[in-house]
Amino acid sequence: MSFRARLTLFFVLIVIVPMLSVAIVLFRLISDNETGKADASVAARQRAAINLYTDARRRADRAIRVVGTDEALAAALRSGDKAAAQARAETLLKTRPARRVVLTGGSITLDQGSKDAVAPSARDLVGQGAQRFGRLEVSVTLAGEYARQVRRIAGADVVVTERGRTLASTLPPQDDVSLPAPGHPHDVTVNGHDYRAVAFEAAGFLGQRIRVVLLNADASRRDAIARSRLLVGGILLGFLVLAMTFAVAVSRSLQSQIGSFLLAARRIASGDFSTEVTTSGHDEFAELGNEFNKMSHQLESRLEDLRQERARLQTSLRRIGQTFASNLDRDALLEIVLRTAVDGLDATGGRASARPEAERALQEVARTGRLDGHLDVIRAAEAQALLSSTGSEASEGEVHALAQPLLGTERGELVGLLSIARAQPFTDRDRELLAYLAGTAGISLQNVGLHEAVQRQAVTDELTGLYNHRRFQEAMVDEVERARRFGQPMSLVMLDIDNFKTINDNFGHQQGDRVLAEVARVLRDSSREIDAPARYGGEELAVVLPGTDIEGAYQLAERMRQGIARLEMATADNGPITVTASFGVASLPQSAGDPRTLLAAADAALYEAKRGGKNKTVRAPGRV
Ligand code: GH3
Ligand code: MG
Ligand code: MG
Repeated sequence: MSFRARLTLFFVLIVIVPMLSVAIVLFRLISDNETGKADASVAARQRAAINLYTDARRRADRAIRVVGTDEALAAALRSGDKAAAQARAETLLKTRPARRVVLTGGSITLDQGSKDAVAPSARDLVGQGAQRFGRLEVSVTLAGEYARQVRRIAGADVVVTERGRTLASTLPPQDDVSLPAPGHPHDVTVNGHDYRAVAFEAAGFLGQRIRVVLLNADASRRDAIARSRLLVGGILLGFLVLAMTFAVAVSRSLQSQIGSFLLAARRIASGDFSTEVTTSGHDEFAELGNEFNKMSHQLESRLEDLRQERARLQTSLRRIGQTFASNLDRDALLEIVLRTAVDGLDATGGRASARPEAERALQEVARTGRLDGHLDVIRAAEAQALLSSTGSEASEGEVHALAQPLLGTERGELVGLLSIARAQPFTDRDRELLAYLAGTAGISLQNVGLHEAVQRQAVTDELTGLYNHRRFQEAMVDEVERARRFGQPMSLVMLDIDNFKTINDNFGHQQGDRVLAEVARVLRDSSREIDAPARYGGEELAVVLPGTDIEGAYQLAERMRQGIARLEMATADNGPITVTASFGVASLPQSAGDPRTLLAAADAALYEAKRGGKNKTVRAPGRV
């Protein structure tokens, strides 16, 4: 059932049905009331008619005394002279003390006068010795007279009947009409006129009953009923119109309220949270509207959360892409892992540490977010994580820190540390997520380490740890090119260990290798970060010196030569080994213009040093 149908049903039940009931009851009451009034009126007229009848009988009483004491009549009766009695009775009737005289029970039966006479008075005729010898009835009133009198005084029409015969009527001549029996008033229609009629019976002649019917014209009663009903009907109709107007207004208002909710619900369904449901007052609709708006805001913020979540997901995806790209960059990798951890765990900040090289201490390599005021707690969590080698937490007031060690996969050694801090305590899910990130970061770092090792091996000589020949050639080309481009000097130092064959011969090849490694260490220790010491081949070594002129190179070569000469390597049986080397130094642009000639110049200088007695440094001559 639709909302509108329900409202209509509700309206019918609480307004129309009660109003119909009220209308029926009121109509009934109006009718009863008017009928009651009509009955009271006709009853009053009836009382008047009865009184008039009683009056007529009283007058008959006086007449009967005259007739009863009439000497002539008495004499006729006593003598049994019926003719004389009749004649005397006629005389009496003519002199009008009576309208009808009836004598019964004696030797003479007499009935003189109008048969229409009513309201008789009766008395027994008593003779000598108190013997009753007859009964005398006398009336002084004709039915017509009585009817007219009643009509005049009581103001109602009258019909007087005796045994169904109409004695008198104030009504115009009529067809047969059924008049009511004595008792309650009745409605009667005579010749198209409505009457309220009531009847009573009174004593007539010879024990007959005279019926008197009073007919009170009743048109006004019907008019009054119609008028009252019209008035009540009008009032009820007015009320109905008012109720309907009100109901329609309420229904419209309800429908408009519900309509606005419906509209708002559709808007929300289409993703529009901008406009609110307007509410007024403090009723349930207003509350519903407020709740609706609240729900809308919550949905909006939830949607915003989802949007942010999606943005975070996209960031994460991008980061995964970056991770693939920066697969072999340790610091970039750690930064990505750290950012993911901070975002994923809603932390205010964090930092990541790693070993720059194996066996060296952890150093911070990445930091993100805000860490001011959080560092002490982070350090506490990190210290605990380092001790326990598992994820550890520390809290201080509102600050909570979570640190997770990054462990290598092969031997489970510590390769780094990931720490974050925030205002909320961490949950098991948070700990799991950070442990997972740390696990993947550990694997990645391990991969980076492996890659670096492979890369190092590709350019490094295994025995000496110096660059190999290939890397030396590359460095030469790069540095010559750079020196030319920036107009800066660069130098090349070449050296060859003196009498190395003898060392091999005297101490064995293995000791020779050791000597070679030691010489290489001297070279490494004496070089700057940017210099590139390399094993040129056999026991010939070379150092590329960017930004260094021939004098600088010479000084360095001399320091290296002295360092080598100072080496003393103990052996088990043949005493300590001492070693020297000869150096040739050439530089750009002074000695040569390209890698090949530079190498040749340095080699030539080295040859000069060998020829000049070894264990010395020779500068290549300037170009001609
Ligand atoms: P000098 O250079 O002073 O003229 O005399 P030398 O005895 O050093 O002569 P040369 O440079 O011709 O000899 C090089 C020797 O170095 C030959 C080779 O047996 C030895 N040698 C080369 N590479 C290695 C190496 O990797 N290990 C060892 N133990 N010996 C090597
Ligand atoms: Mg040699
Ligand atoms: Mg040599």
